[in-house]
Amino acid sequence: MRKSTVSIVKTPSSPDYQDVLEAVEKALHLIGGIEDIIRPDKLVLINPSWVAPPVEPSAGCITLPEVSRAIADIVTSIGARPVIAESSAVGVDTEKLIEESGYRKLREMGYEVVNLKKTPWVKLPVENGRIFETLPCWELVQQADVIVSVPKLKTHDQTEMTCSIKKLKGLLTDKGKKSMHQEGLFEGVVDLMSAVKPRLAVVDAIVCQEGVGPVFGRPVEMNLVLAGKDLVAVDATCARLIGYKPLETLITVNTAARGLGIMDSDGIEILGEPLDKVKRRFLRSIEDDPVKVKDFQLIHGEETCTGCRNTVLSALLDMRNADQLMYLPGVTVLTGGAQPPKGISRENIVTIGKCMPEDSRTERHVDGCPPNNALVVKAIIAGRAEVKRMYADGSLDQTG
Ligand code: SF4
Repeated sequence: MRKSTVSIVKTPSSPDYQDVLEAVEKALHLIGGIEDIIRPDKLVLINPSWVAPPVEPSAGCITLPEVSRAIADIVTSIGARPVIAESSAVGVDTEKLIEESGYRKLREMGYEVVNLKKTPWVKLPVENGRIFETLPCWELVQQADVIVSVPKLKTHDQTEMTCSIKKLKGLLTDKGKKSMHQEGLFEGVVDLMSAVKPRLAVVDAIVCQEGVGPVFGRPVEMNLVLAGKDLVAVDATCARLIGYKPLETLITVNTAARGLGIMDSDGIEILGEPLDKVKRRFLRSIEDDPVKVKDFQLIHGEETCTGCRNTVLSALLDMRNADQLMYLPGVTVLTGGAQPPKGISRENIVTIGKCMPEDSRTERHVDGCPPNNALVVKAIIAGRAEVKRMYADGSLDQTG
């Protein structure tokens, strides 16, 4: 059986551009080079993670500009045209993120750095989509000959881990990102991957995040770059690297199940650093300093998956950060078809998620799969205070 290859290369601590370039070159060399997928004169969309601030390299939130630049330089050396392009989370000002991070310097140096939110969009057909027949993507995605996913490796408060597949959500318009949460993130992202067909992943695992990622997690220095042409194999390897079984990361499972790549370790050849030598278990979102409040009940049902489990926890953390835990006592939150305990008045119950049966939903129901954290907070607070959005500007109505 032909195996998928994934390379793991070490960088020094706090690497400079030359260190990063050498690591990316070595990672790509180990997987057999990229001349088979990137040819002269082709348009190559390099898609880093710009989810939201903080932008400092030490925060481990956004893809380091040096990693994007290294890929751009390698693409240029082949004679192709690199464009570094991404759109941040709904409500986050991508232009400001570029301005305040090292990406502005790349622009000044002459690299094409594009805020996708300022560009036209198109409907991209999804072959055999499970959730979507078309997806609203940026026009540049359609125009690109090759898409390179350049994620920052982090734990994630809804999907356990975010890496090269989940990160592709930045290729959707804000409307598309919102409908992904409403209609089903875990299969929707797989639809997106089958529509945009990324050919390569280069993972920035230099400073990562553990705990309540992908924005407010705790930084972890790993000093690694990983690369591969099979994104499922890359994400499965990254899952193992940070202490998950790939079966615990539903997006990887769903992409493998649809034949978009290999997840099993028997089918993946790891080149460069041995996985056992560099792996480290990351604190999971669910383990990170849980919120405990008297007279507040959170009841998960049989259907509850990590999506809603982590979403509610993350919403509670947002409330704690915003000093709003006083709105929790007296409230019961139900997910995954859970039934309310006897004696609880319906008006004090918040029901969560698309899989909550219609007849169990209360007036304070929050739809989505999983719903947005901020909308869960809004339902809990129920008009008693303003909902503070943790990393996005703009109105809550923009939230997806
Ligand atoms: S709505 Fe149901 S399936 Fe979707 S994330 Fe929540 S618990 Fe999981």
